[in-house]
Amino acid sequence: MSKTIEHIVVVGGGSAGWLVAGVIAAEHRLRVTLVESPDVPPIGVGEGTWPSMRDTLRRIGVSEADFFRECDASFKQGSRFNGWVTGAADDYYFHPFALPQGHGSANLAAAWRASHPGVPFADLVSHQPHLCVAGRAPKQAQTPEFAAVANYGYHLDAGKFGVFLRGHCVGKLGVRHLLDHVDAVESQENGDIAGLRLRRHGLLGADLFIDCTGMQSLLLGQHYGVPLVPQRHVLFNDCALAVQVPYATPDAPIASQTTSTAQASGWIWDIGLPARRGVGHVYSCAHTSDDEAFDALRRYVLATGGPDDISPRKLRFEPAYRKRFWHRNCLAIGLSAGFIEPLEASALALVEMSLEWLADDMPATRAEVDIVAARFNEAFTYRWERIIEFLKLHYVLSKRDTPYWLDHRKAASVPERLRELLALWRTRPPSRRDLPRIEEVFPSASYQYILYGMRYPLEGAARASDLPQEADRHFQDTARLTARMLQLLPSNRELLAHIRAHGLPRI
Ligand SMILES: Cc1cc2nc3c(=O)[nH]c(=O)nc-3n(C[C@H](O)[C@H](O)[C@H](O)COP(=O)(O)OP(=O)(O)OC[C@H]3O[C@@H](n4cnc5c(N)ncnc54)[C@H](O)[C@@H]3O)c2cc1C
Repeated sequence: MSKTIEHIVVVGGGSAGWLVAGVIAAEHRLRVTLVESPDVPPIGVGEGTWPSMRDTLRRIGVSEADFFRECDASFKQGSRFNGWVTGAADDYYFHPFALPQGHGSANLAAAWRASHPGVPFADLVSHQPHLCVAGRAPKQAQTPEFAAVANYGYHLDAGKFGVFLRGHCVGKLGVRHLLDHVDAVESQENGDIAGLRLRRHGLLGADLFIDCTGMQSLLLGQHYGVPLVPQRHVLFNDCALAVQVPYATPDAPIASQTTSTAQASGWIWDIGLPARRGVGHVYSCAHTSDDEAFDALRRYVLATGGPDDISPRKLRFEPAYRKRFWHRNCLAIGLSAGFIEPLEASALALVEMSLEWLADDMPATRAEVDIVAARFNEAFTYRWERIIEFLKLHYVLSKRDTPYWLDHRKAASVPERLRELLALWRTRPPSRRDLPRIEEVFPSASYQYILYGMRYPLEGAARASDLPQEADRHFQDTARLTARMLQLLPSNRELLAHIRAHGLPRI
């Protein structure tokens, strides 16, 4: 009889480790121990999430109001891209979280091109860019926890998020927490990990080990030697400067979206939390110097109402993912599995997808582990490839002309599958058939938002099946819905203040 899986050890107390420990402890009758080194702090960045985080937090069983209060969290309704096409003052577009109204039932793109070419695509098909421009919250004070009027994820303080999750996992879910450093890994004869040698607590054995040790990838990368698959030839960014920026006044508006502003050799993120903004410049060290990157960040902070003197923190990363994520009785989740620039905030979303897979497909015995692992590796290699293509799309459609942007458009740097899709998308919009899996990371709607936000041409005659009247009906519905939402929804700051004081209704 194969050994039963009874005890899971999670190594790492960053966002990934605590999310994994929380979901497993909440949904399985398994012993969960989380080991976290007192000498290696979590990375402390990663402040934008997807709407999927609402489900993850609900699965763990936290209160959304507590989360808002303790993590200095705010609402995120999508991304706004400034200057990505030409860099001109009026060059911006939105990638909202809400699907276009009527997506899949009518050729919205063809109708947009034919009858409303002067209106930004996302403005015509979605209420959400309008809510973002107006700084509106995606729900009302009477909307229950985790429910939405408009789809939303979160902006949060990454340091506070880890502390919040730890309190809940240890206090409410019975996760055992060891503050200790893993010095060595001990193996069984068959190559499985037998246990971890901890500096203070000695040998810690388990049936399954989840490597959440960040970029060190202590178990999968260092112990098992599973290599990285480099992606620098596709996505060049490998450095970031991150800084926290105070608001000019305590009642300054809180942005509803992550703003990503293109720079000569990278881009700058801007995330609004209730107490401060998080701003960072992601760039390619091969295309610019740290000093130039710092100057661009300083200019941006100053131009957006922040102070002149900033002391950003520098982070370096290798754009890559692991050749395998699950090897024997070890699964890597989070930065230990890989990292690519945070352009669409996909890292925490991948953590959630990984832990959802693990929690839903949890092997009962050691014999099942290899079967589940093979399926996991196939599925997540596919996901990484799709994420890389989707991020690359933002660069290949640009018309900017510094060496960084020109290099991004060189054919050799564009994955073949993306090149083929771009050829098809000249005459028709992205559809479900281009992204055939049930659980795609980015739906065809996201591709449409980027393509048409960046003014990718849609050539050729309209098809007989295009139903322009139906598309027009959806545009009108969107306009009506937008007007109603703008009337009813409070500002982000108003609603967040209300939640801090009174909470939200719980179902
Ligand atoms: C510049 C930048 C911006 C980002 N922005 C976003 C974003 O907007 N959205 C998003 O989703 N993601 C973003 N990310 C990614 C995000 O930060 C991570 O995915 C997330 O924080 C999870 O990190 P982690 O838990 O895997 O690793 P970490 O936070 O690095 O945690 C590693 C843990 O491992 C432990 N550890 C290491 N070695 C040992 C040892 N020997 N013994 C015991 N414990 C050990 C450490 O103590 C620590 O607790 C960004 C990343 C970067 C670099």
